[in-house]
Amino acid sequence: MFKALVVNKDEDSGKTSAAVETLSLDQLPDAEVTVAVDYSTVNYKDGLCIGPGGGLVRKYPHVPGIDFAGTVEASNDDRYKPGDKVVLTGWRVGEAHWGGYSQKARVRADWLVPLPEGIDTRQAMAVGTAGFTAMLSVMALEDHGLTPDRGPVLVTGAAGGVGSVATAILANLGYDVAAVTGRPETAEYLTVLGATQIVPREELNETVKRPLESENWAGCIDAVGGAMLARVLGQMKYGGSVAAVGLAGGAGLPATVIPFLLRGVNLLGIDSVMQPYGNRLRAWQRVATDLPMEKLEAMVQPATLSDLPKLGADILQGQVKGRVVVDVNG
Ligand code: NDP
Repeated sequence: MFKALVVNKDEDSGKTSAAVETLSLDQLPDAEVTVAVDYSTVNYKDGLCIGPGGGLVRKYPHVPGIDFAGTVEASNDDRYKPGDKVVLTGWRVGEAHWGGYSQKARVRADWLVPLPEGIDTRQAMAVGTAGFTAMLSVMALEDHGLTPDRGPVLVTGAAGGVGSVATAILANLGYDVAAVTGRPETAEYLTVLGATQIVPREELNETVKRPLESENWAGCIDAVGGAMLARVLGQMKYGGSVAAVGLAGGAGLPATVIPFLLRGVNLLGIDSVMQPYGNRLRAWQRVATDLPMEKLEAMVQPATLSDLPKLGADILQGQVKGRVVVDVNG
């Protein structure tokens, strides 16, 4: 028997409710690898799946948790054996499949990545989907020619999960990082992570008529989307790239094509969910070398399974700072 956060749906009212329940191993879905989960975390999608589902959850009862790290307990696949340390992000785990808010998870071997040397399961979830996606974004910007001597890199939604890890990695790689935040009280936190400039959200969250402004940024990791992304496109330096990661500020893009045509700006889409295995491995290995672990620790807010209903609501309100690490055995 083991504990998990289970979301049930009342068929009459259509309302969902989440609570910690005791389950047995035979209730887990069929798949090749059973993992004893050590840690999970809280992402925006988790907030949706702990709550009404946001169209992501297909079947109830449901165990959310879009990422986890733990130890293989049983495996029908040659790639994994009991005792192996693994991490999982994406593949719609925690949405269409039961996820990591559980002391046990059963998943496909294809979805797992072996933890690289130098990271333990707790650190892996301090990184989580948010940090993994931040690393994919840095890699995409580098693949498009970004180097520290090109100029400052803007990070939007900087005090959130993606933004915090992106700030720490970029600063560690020698970039001059400008952090956009709507929470002025996070300025010191962002400075400790390595930001050299704090940009108030109000400066960037309104559309302007001019499609081009002064060329400020050599690169950008954007967790916000909407009007802010449109605005940032017009402020990119010639040939600069923006990694579009998130939509915390909206899914629209009220922009013109002028920055693409006159400044050769690149808009790079970043998806962490269906990312091929080779890139996943490369990104986790880069996290192990490029993210200073003491800075990661400064971002962590610890939690347990019973804290999740509140944390799920908080992240939907943009109220979570940095990274939550959920000790599912705590
Ligand atoms: P968080 O909630 O931790 O961070 C989002 C941050 O965005 C907030 O902390 C806040 O930063 C800022 N923000 C929130 N609301 C607004 C608003 N209305 N206008 C401007 N800024 C706002 O979430 P994550 O960092 O985990 O995820 C960020 C985004 O990336 C989400 O949209 C998420 O769905 C997406 N995502 C995408 C992935 C992919 O594969 N493409 C993977 C992981 C996440 P501050 O307080 O500093 O202003």
